[in-house]
Amino acid sequence: MGKPTGFLEFDRQEEGYLPVEQRVKNYKEFVLHLSDEAAKVQGARCMDCGIPFCQSGCPINNIIPDWNDLVYRQNWQGAIEVLHSTNNFPDFTGRICPAPCEAACTLNINDDAVGIKSIEHAIIDKAWENGWVKPQINPNKTGKKVAVVGSGPAGMAAAQQLARAGHSVVVLEKNDRVGGLLRYGIPDFKFEKSHIDRRMDQMRAEGVEFRVNQHVGENVKAEDLMKEFDAVILAAGAEQPRDLPVPGRELKGIHFAMDFLTQQNKVVAGDSVPDQIKSTGKHVVVIGGGDTGSDCVGTSNRHGAASVTQFEIMPQPPEEENRPLTWPNWPIKMRTSSSHEEGCDRDWSVVTKRFEGENGEVKKLIAARVEWKDGKMAEVPGSEFEVPAERVYLAMGFVSPVQKLLDAFGVEKDARQNAKATTDGAGCYATSVSKVFAAGDVRRGQSLVVWAIREGRQCAREVDAFLMGSSSLPR
Ligand SMILES: Cc1cc2nc3c(=O)[nH]c(=O)nc-3n(C[C@H](O)[C@H](O)[C@H](O)COP(=O)(O)OP(=O)(O)OC[C@H]3O[C@@H](n4cnc5c(N)ncnc54)[C@H](O)[C@@H]3O)c2cc1C
Ligand code: SF4
Repeated sequence: MGKPTGFLEFDRQEEGYLPVEQRVKNYKEFVLHLSDEAAKVQGARCMDCGIPFCQSGCPINNIIPDWNDLVYRQNWQGAIEVLHSTNNFPDFTGRICPAPCEAACTLNINDDAVGIKSIEHAIIDKAWENGWVKPQINPNKTGKKVAVVGSGPAGMAAAQQLARAGHSVVVLEKNDRVGGLLRYGIPDFKFEKSHIDRRMDQMRAEGVEFRVNQHVGENVKAEDLMKEFDAVILAAGAEQPRDLPVPGRELKGIHFAMDFLTQQNKVVAGDSVPDQIKSTGKHVVVIGGGDTGSDCVGTSNRHGAASVTQFEIMPQPPEEENRPLTWPNWPIKMRTSSSHEEGCDRDWSVVTKRFEGENGEVKKLIAARVEWKDGKMAEVPGSEFEVPAERVYLAMGFVSPVQKLLDAFGVEKDARQNAKATTDGAGCYATSVSKVFAAGDVRRGQSLVVWAIREGRQCAREVDAFLMGSSSLPR
């Protein structure tokens, strides 16, 4: 612990953002990481409370108090070593993790939590700037071959761990680029894609082979993978979007959020996308109040939408959580994203009843207010209202993985149609089919990047043990 009185002396400092009028003109990241001095002061706020709840709040159990202390002492190289010991990609989480660690921080009981995520961000940026992120090449090859289906954070983490254990790893990706939702879901203004590219370079040097345009279950047969490889990891995400089957759904201008976001990410990458879905000059309604919806808001503002409205069916959460009641768990409270700050009307307890249009194009959305009692929703009589809607983005989450892939391997599914596998005990991450494993959203359902990294790492250890009889990979 660097400074015993740090938490009494220093306030939490947030990372800086470029001003709205500047950042909405482009798709570049606009969060400015802390200076060395600011990170030192923030590290000093960690009171090394003895039982680091932050560490168990973090799904990959980052050893947070240790790197807080190392940053306080300006031992940045030591800090990245500790950080990398639990997290393959702090460059991903330091940018886009919602930071459940901070909700669990002991200081968060009656003060502002330590700015853990911002310190993580500063550490990894410094490590890249100084050339400290190097491939960890295992010269002892095992001769075992592993296929990883899907190149999102779960697949990337699993592949990196297995290559470091000496296995030959091939990542098969159906899209034309690697990265999963990091590449084609999350917009560049939150997460620039060069972060994936340099990790791919590192992983290639470690022996991972990436094969794109490989749609397993379509142009690549599951049985061929089963013959060629000693183990297969399904890390294909949960890509089946939740639809809104109300009258007028067939009108033009109503799109799944992912179709909209993917196209913009491709354009930023330099691709030409004919008839790109654009919000320019349109009245936009985003249905769904989560991260995906917020990304549609930010992208629509960059397109120059005439107006952006976001509806959420659940009630408006409280501004502040009841900390004694919720700590150290993730609280439900009002969260305003940087995209919301850029301009958006938000409304809660709203249900969409139908869409109306002209000449086959959507023009308005008819909604009603709802009340929630004992977990049940009831429409408020006479509360119908309408808003102009020339583009509607459906961002109501994902119901399951695409079933065709799971069926191609014949793996058993859980009640939510995810690949069935446990995460603890003997045989964890193994599916019902011998030598086929599952990790990330394909197994747990729609989740977070940090959970995907955790599952990828843990699954890699189980695959290593399956292939070699035991594993020294960390869990
Ligand atoms: C718009 C959006 C914004 C988000 N924002 C955040 C955020 O800010 N912070 C956060 O923590 N989480 C966020 N998430 C959630 C997060 O991105 C996911 O939880 C995470 O990416 C899941 O990782 P994964 O590796 O399991 O799957 P994915 O990232 O979905 O990757 C799966 C990959 O498998 C490939 N694939 C699928 N089927 C096949 C097949 N048959 N053959 C070959 N390849 C296949 C897919 O093309 C994809 O590349 C967001 C999600 C969305 C949609
Ligand atoms: S990965 Fe997320 S939860 Fe873990 S320390 Fe970083 S910000 Fe916190």
